[in-house]
Amino acid sequence: MKKILFVTSEVYPLIKTGGLADVSNSLPKALSQTGQDVKLVIPNYHGLKITAPVIERSLFKIGTHTVRLLETMLPDSDVGIWLVDCPEYFDISGNPYVDFAGNAYGNNAERFALFCRAAIEIAMNRAGLDWTADVVHCHDWQTGLVPALLSLEYKCPPTVFTIHNLAYQGLFNGLMAATLQLPSQLLSPDGLEFFSMISFIKGGIAYADKITTVSPTYAQDIQTAELGYGLEGLLVYRNQDLIGIINGIDDDWNPQIDPFIAKNYSVDTLADKKENKKALQTHFNLPVDENILLIGLISRLVEQKGIDMILGCLSEMLTFPIQFVLLGSGDKGFEKQLREFAQANPNKLSLTLGYDEALAHLIEAGADVFLMPSRFEPCGLNQMYSQRYGTLPIVRKTGGLADTVVDTLPSTISDKTATGFVFNEASEGALLETIKRVVMLYGFPEIWHQIQVNAMNVDFSWKSSAEQYIDVYSKI
Ligand code: ADP
Repeated sequence: MKKILFVTSEVYPLIKTGGLADVSNSLPKALSQTGQDVKLVIPNYHGLKITAPVIERSLFKIGTHTVRLLETMLPDSDVGIWLVDCPEYFDISGNPYVDFAGNAYGNNAERFALFCRAAIEIAMNRAGLDWTADVVHCHDWQTGLVPALLSLEYKCPPTVFTIHNLAYQGLFNGLMAATLQLPSQLLSPDGLEFFSMISFIKGGIAYADKITTVSPTYAQDIQTAELGYGLEGLLVYRNQDLIGIINGIDDDWNPQIDPFIAKNYSVDTLADKKENKKALQTHFNLPVDENILLIGLISRLVEQKGIDMILGCLSEMLTFPIQFVLLGSGDKGFEKQLREFAQANPNKLSLTLGYDEALAHLIEAGADVFLMPSRFEPCGLNQMYSQRYGTLPIVRKTGGLADTVVDTLPSTISDKTATGFVFNEASEGALLETIKRVVMLYGFPEIWHQIQVNAMNVDFSWKSSAEQYIDVYSKI
């Protein structure tokens, strides 16, 4: 049994902006089920949705700030959560990183540096909790200073740093080094410095004992200039310590027991899926028609997710016999263009702007296919959720999408391994050709049904991913 401190800036269902929150919920639970003692530490944002009791555990100082440590539990688990309470930094009810206009908070460096220092106090058993970490597992730039600062401690526990998305790096003006009181030995180009700036994510990549990322293909992708954001050299240098472990998905996404969908179903009662299609069409005010291909999309509306590519060929796509439902929010320009398309094509395209967990489940259950043409994708969750719901994913061959979707080809149809549709080139033409291919295949219900069965039978459980993480912990 190991004592694992899981340092993360978001965890579902307390607070979520993306896939990191899902992983921070599922992986600790899966680790705990193997007998590990896992504790989460997150900032005590004002807007946290907490259902379990909260107790106050301790009080300590970080610089001039007084930090209160609160304790609660992750729902439906025996995983404890420590909340770093520092109201001047975390007493916010909206997004943890950006304001309502989408701009990063001006004091993000100070906020997450304090969070990192609090995590170190816990890991080193200096926070009054009578608990010392055997392993500290950090996630994304918000926690990058933990491996860096911990490396300077006497008898520090080993660290693992997981990159969920290298595009977000926590880059700050170099002058912040003084404000944050970062020790000079960390400030070299081998350390936190990145072209005269301070890079939080480099703290994780340069100093952690092991680096993981959330799919084997993405572990390769980030070692290239195209997706390495200037960190590819360091990642190549550290590639003996870099490993890709695909995320699992958990039972919140299971059509057999999903409380958010119109009718539960399984691979044996797949015909019931059409009740969800009907409910989805009704919800989105689309003509109720079980024979038209219904495409779903749930996404942050940003370039990474290929939204610009979709917009570039949407006029032509809408000439096909399809319906298209979208749920998302993000780039205001993309939102505006999508709204215009929806207004002009009310019988084919329906759009909900915003974040809606329940609707996301209904889309997964009711759509025939799920569109995810990402330009890059560290792991991606929706293509796995989709397969579990018999909703065939259409994805670009990158990162975790390449690792988890098997393209439909004559050979994969006959050996029953096909689970979706994969295209290579990040171009509107390639996307459009793939949609055509999907529309055509939708006319062959027996083949379609077999691919749904293949997809629904793939094992995306957390168990095997958790075992791989335990293996990494054991190595250090
Ligand atoms: P990323 O973390 O890059 O946004 P992932 O596919 O890894 O992408 O995870 C996204 C998660 O967020 C999924 O669980 C997805 O269903 C959810 N999601 C994204 N946008 C919305 C939205 N507008 N409403 C509900 N859920 C959303």
